[in-house]
Amino acid sequence: MKLICIGRNYGEHAKELGNAVPEEPVVFLKPESALIPRNGPIRLPSFSNDVHHEIELVFAIARRNGKAVADRVTIGLDLTARDLQQELKTKGLPWEKAKAFDGSAYVADSFTAVESFPAGHHIEFMLKKNGQVVQSGHSSQMIFDIPALIANVERYMQLETDDLLFTGTPAGVGPLKVGDELEGYMLGELLFERTGERPFPPLGKARFAAHDQDRPRRQHRLR
Ligand code: ZN
Repeated sequence: MKLICIGRNYGEHAKELGNAVPEEPVVFLKPESALIPRNGPIRLPSFSNDVHHEIELVFAIARRNGKAVADRVTIGLDLTARDLQQELKTKGLPWEKAKAFDGSAYVADSFTAVESFPAGHHIEFMLKKNGQVVQSGHSSQMIFDIPALIANVERYMQLETDDLLFTGTPAGVGPLKVGDELEGYMLGELLFERTGERPFPPLGKARFAAHDQDRPRRQHRLR
């Protein structure tokens, strides 16, 4: 299972980070180990002083008759070590250390079947931080829609059942600090409540032991 993420898919967000609006989707990956287990804590990594929240529509992929389709939808967080990402971007290096670290991806528990939406239906979503709306978006604002994203990604890599497609974040990204309370809404319904927590113990044996305990393998069931 892989997490495929799209960057700069909302014009206002591309602008707020000083990026050009892309002519082709910006694609990057997170490994399965980035995924916060069900009901697990959001732990802010110790190597960054500027972790940003990015609320996104997340689609679970299914392959039917050899074709990848967006099967179910929910919201999630693409947590980003913005200070480190900026440094890597400046040096022209890959983003993984800033984007794919352990605990950098959160996905709400409950998915809605995409086929339950009428044709042309658009999905609105938002993130509150400490009770204030900080990000709100609408699937109609995406620069590349879901079929275009799937087609583009599949030019390069096959999408498989249960892969998760993060579709980019609207404007309003900002820092997430220890103690900040996040609430994620899709179609007006509260889908998650999470608090920013202290990092794992420093790198080393203790950290991995604690981490393994927190995450029995493949505990995060998607259906
Ligand atoms: Zn993102």
